[in-house]
Amino acid sequence: LGVETLLHTSGKRIRRRLKGSVNGVVAVKNGEEFLIKTRSVILATGGFGDNKELLKKYCPDYYDGMPVDHWPHHSSHSGDGLLMAEEIGAAIADSVPIYHIGPYYPGYLYPWQSLPAMAMHPCAVWVNNRGRRFIDEAGYGSMVVGNAIILQPDKVMYSLFDDELRKNVEEGRSVSAGRPRKQAGRGGGTIEVAPEKGLPGLAEELQKHAKGGDTKTAASWDGIAKWIGADPEILKAEINEYNSYCEQGHDEIFAKDRKYLQPLRNPPYYAMRCYARVGETLGGIKVNENMEILDKQLKVIPGAYAAGVIADGCQGQTYCMDVPGSAMGFAVNSGRIAGENAAKYVLGKQRRKR
Ligand SMILES: Cc1cc2nc3c(=O)[nH]c(=O)nc-3n(C[C@H](O)[C@H](O)[C@H](O)COP(=O)(O)OP(=O)(O)OC[C@H]3O[C@@H](n4cnc5c(N)ncnc54)[C@H](O)[C@@H]3O)c2cc1C
Repeated sequence: LGVETLLHTSGKRIRRRLKGSVNGVVAVKNGEEFLIKTRSVILATGGFGDNKELLKKYCPDYYDGMPVDHWPHHSSHSGDGLLMAEEIGAAIADSVPIYHIGPYYPGYLYPWQSLPAMAMHPCAVWVNNRGRRFIDEAGYGSMVVGNAIILQPDKVMYSLFDDELRKNVEEGRSVSAGRPRKQAGRGGGTIEVAPEKGLPGLAEELQKHAKGGDTKTAASWDGIAKWIGADPEILKAEINEYNSYCEQGHDEIFAKDRKYLQPLRNPPYYAMRCYARVGETLGGIKVNENMEILDKQLKVIPGAYAAGVIADGCQGQTYCMDVPGSAMGFAVNSGRIAGENAAKYVLGKQRRKR
């Protein structure tokens, strides 16, 4: 077809006639700007999870200091496409969902590393800073847990466990050894929370982090309650209730799978402070069913299209892990729809809907 692909080239600005159609893109290569004349542009620049200003502006769930995912690809998620769309007067959703990931224990790149894996263990008990459980610790994937953490006071949670669980996990003898987390319940990803080889050095790592103030070891639940800022009586009542559910083999509050119901009775006790982090943003630029970008009056900006995770409506409030490939599927298909319509538009075959 004679299509030229420009590598190592960034889109910077879309050119649009005054309130009219698109007529070019300003791009940058080797620090030099140049104009590409074109009648249509498809924005497919991904999310804006690495742009704190845009997160603050468009994501009500975001707060200053919220941890952001730093997977290797993430630096490309600077929100260039959203900024370009803003500049040409596109409508942007005022509430863009974040794909939250939790529980997130800071300082590690991957969740299967030692302390994050311990914090995510399905036999641990997760409480908020009031000392109350808030979710089935074994039943949900990290996206749903992330959403639940965001709803807790101060958007923080604590993963609690006792020395028996710590030891079993460290030595690879825990109930979930070698079990991918997704088998714990509804769409949990494929993270081995405690590989068969165990998590050697876990006790030392916990001690080290206790000095840094991110974990706490205490001889009693009173000590843990004090550290998390909860009323000790509430936390102890919560743990006693949980232990009684373990004994009867039925969690009356959250129906946690009974194979993960192990009482926490052997001091020292541990607490790890965890958060939800920004995995990615899910949407932004308003489009219609042809993936045409809409202006603030929700009218089509002729020649402007968006596809993939930058297009609003790609997911609901929760990133859907239960449908594998839902995000990639949307990216591919919205790209196809945008491409087909952009081609029709350029060839003058598209019926205008305004
Ligand atoms: C860790 C992780 C795991 C995931 N796992 C899954 C999964 O298992 N299944 C699934 O369906 N989805 C998964 N997703 C989601 C899925 O990867 C994304 O939703 C999808 O890649 C979005 O596609 P996209 O084309 O919109 O954006 P991206 O894939 O992010 O592509 C955007 C591209 O635009 C480029 N770009 C940005 N700015 C500019 C610019 N100014 N000029 C030129 N280029 C630019 C970027 O460099 C990037 O290459 C995962 C996401 C993450 C972060």
